[in-house]
Amino acid sequence: MSWWQVDETHDPALSSWVPGADGHADFPVQNLPLGVFSPAGGRPRIGIAIGGHVLDLAAAAACGLLPAEAGGLCGGARLNRLLGAPTEVRQELRRCLSRLLTDPAHRPQLENLLHQAADCTLHLPAWIGDYTDFYVGIHHAGNVGRQFRPDNPLLPNYKHVPIGYHGRASSIRPSGVPVVRPNGQRKAPDMDAPVFGPAARLDYELELGVWIGEGNELGTPIPIEEARRHIAGLCLLNDWSARDLQAWEYQPLGPFAAKNFHSTISPWIVTAEALAPFRMAQAPRPATDPQPLPYLWDEGDQAHGALALELEVHLTSEAMRAAGMAPLALSHGEARHMYWTIGQIVTHHAAGGCNLRPGDLLGTGTISAPERAGFGSLMELTEGGRQPLPLPSGETRSFLEDGDEVTLSATARADGFVPIGFGPCRARVVPAP
Ligand code: MN
Repeated sequence: MSWWQVDETHDPALSSWVPGADGHADFPVQNLPLGVFSPAGGRPRIGIAIGGHVLDLAAAAACGLLPAEAGGLCGGARLNRLLGAPTEVRQELRRCLSRLLTDPAHRPQLENLLHQAADCTLHLPAWIGDYTDFYVGIHHAGNVGRQFRPDNPLLPNYKHVPIGYHGRASSIRPSGVPVVRPNGQRKAPDMDAPVFGPAARLDYELELGVWIGEGNELGTPIPIEEARRHIAGLCLLNDWSARDLQAWEYQPLGPFAAKNFHSTISPWIVTAEALAPFRMAQAPRPATDPQPLPYLWDEGDQAHGALALELEVHLTSEAMRAAGMAPLALSHGEARHMYWTIGQIVTHHAAGGCNLRPGDLLGTGTISAPERAGFGSLMELTEGGRQPLPLPSGETRSFLEDGDEVTLSATARADGFVPIGFGPCRARVVPAP
């Protein structure tokens, strides 16, 4: 089985007849991400983003413009059936859409099926049956571990087993839905007894989301060399975290109410096929690190299992927006700082026979660079709140205040190819009830 191939759909010379698509920062014709949208006054339906427009795939299928197998999976209000199809079905759909959107001869057929993205509402792209969050950002794990356990930042299992926990699928929302500050129980070390109230140390986490494609049967693991067939695509994920709740509750079973109140995703699924030109080798492990167990090791996964993705976080406060100030860049990092590949986390998840299903979502865990400029959470940037960040408005931030808006963004770049982006993963914090 070969890795996703670079083909004619990635050709940097391709030009789309859709106005504004060429040179679009996120969605040029080389991207073609899948999503679910409602046009003004309409019902949710499956579409793809092209520049500042959305193409209605259900309508295109009804007009007989799409390959029969993929077209038959483009009805309904979520993408689970198309995600669950073999990767070859999505590859064929991608090649067809690339032809339709580049050859001006198809413009008369398709023009009426395009909607201005600004007039559309974007929804969760799939019914998310299960959500699991991992912890593969080794620099994040070290930074956070130092705050909780100064002498012992990385626990002894970290380099042997991809650490994760089962998260909460019901509270995942697409970009734009406000996040309500959670109430919860906390007890700082200097307090005699716990209290219940609004979280005082609300944070964001910069993560990638992994959309599961074809599932596996209960009791049937996914071999590492086949893991990529089960990965339909990626999105951005902000795993909002209440650090004061987390510090009190996390032992012995891990995160619970500190993490389950809301998670925000970018609503477009950037497909594994679109990301083919941006695959890169996983960074070699330092010679002193243990060799992973054989079920997690595949030469192909090591050679192609990482991604050349730049990741950014921006913040605005209410005062900054009122003064018309530009968003403050909080960090700029890269996805290659993952200690485990997404193939390894998929394989590890299923290794005991756990069944993954189409539309399940895996979070990578917070991705931080080794240097401060690429730290993926406020907890790291402010050293647990001890070094507040100055904002251009004259305010400072240790953790998020009501009215703050956080935007995650990602761009895939490789020499000789057109960069593609993920679109924003954005939400504003509103007060606790
Ligand atoms: Mn997380």
